[in-house]
Amino acid sequence: MIPYGRQSINQQDIEAVVNALNGDFLTTGPLVEKFEKALEEVVGAPCVSVTSGTAALHCAYAAIALRPGDEVITPPLTFIATQATAALFGAKIVFVDIQESTGNIDPALVERAITPKTRAIVAVDYAGQPADLDELRDIADKHKIYLIEDAAHSIGSTYKGRPVGSIADITTFSFFPTKNMTTAEGGAIASPNPELLQKARRFSRQGLVREPQEFKVKNQGKWHQEVHEFGINYRLPDLLCALGISQLSRISTFKAIRNDLFDRYMKGFAEVPNLVLPQVNAFNNVMWHLFPIRVPAASREKIFDSLRSKDIFVQVNYLPTYRHPVFATYGLEEGDFPVSDGYYSGEISLPMFSDLSHNQQDFIINTLLEILATEVSRKL
Ligand SMILES: *Cc1c(COP(=O)(O)O)cnc(C)c1O
Repeated sequence: MIPYGRQSINQQDIEAVVNALNGDFLTTGPLVEKFEKALEEVVGAPCVSVTSGTAALHCAYAAIALRPGDEVITPPLTFIATQATAALFGAKIVFVDIQESTGNIDPALVERAITPKTRAIVAVDYAGQPADLDELRDIADKHKIYLIEDAAHSIGSTYKGRPVGSIADITTFSFFPTKNMTTAEGGAIASPNPELLQKARRFSRQGLVREPQEFKVKNQGKWHQEVHEFGINYRLPDLLCALGISQLSRISTFKAIRNDLFDRYMKGFAEVPNLVLPQVNAFNNVMWHLFPIRVPAASREKIFDSLRSKDIFVQVNYLPTYRHPVFATYGLEEGDFPVSDGYYSGEISLPMFSDLSHNQQDFIINTLLEILATEVSRKL
């Protein structure tokens, strides 16, 4: 079986984790800070490590003090965590449709969705390609709201030469095994704004304040720590930071392999009728998390099932999130976000991961070409 995504683990990763197991700390120890520093080198802003990409988003919304009634602008073509963690603070999710070319939120539609209650624009770097961050930044600055980037797909990508993580007010990452690098479960928040990062860190560490100059409870001993705002425990353990440090040391290798696989898919499918390939903005240097293709909607399920029957475990990313029953009270209907709906209706994510061999990829390409030739020509 060839999955759509999976981790790449080598001997160095295994030794790193075993060494951490033999160390003095299983959880908060020296490797946490080391991992956060190594991440900063890659993403261009200071980082806080947490237990998942979902946790990272939750911390980002805590850092901007999201409150009931606040509005956040998000695209529908994403994983539900982008919205769930904001809704859990009582915020209203405002959906704004995507661009057909990239699958990313359409800046031209964002401005008219802004109200006095809007607190943040949340961009998602679909498949690894950075959203239109300059345009979104301008809108955010004009309205004095935050720009948050859900970069679960895009660690390692750059936008106009700047690494993802250094641009938005807060950027969140996921290190789930199918993502560009892994810590098993894991995630991180990056921010060039020390105040926001400190708030995210405190929220992820039970809200504990350890800086004596900030203490409100006076005359305690060296043991003292206190809580000003409630937090949660999202600490990423030393064991997993060990894996993260080891994985980060190979991120440029992972990127080169993913780019090579991307180019081979593009060549393999060049000028195939009824097949839409990913489009890249020239100013983006993408570390591809997914390889999203689009086939005629009427044939998508058949093509999907045929690929799965050949043990090619393709995936569909994503059902536009506004169509999840959890949004029933929003009064939205299928078709309200036609570009997202159209994108979803034909989308299939082909296998894309560092350990995918050229042989396996050639098998995928040839199998899909065969299926397209028979299935689509029959249907049309
Ligand atoms: C994977 C993902 C998340 C959540 O990350 P987890 O580490 O699985 O919690 C959030 N947003 C997007 C777009 C994702 O793909």
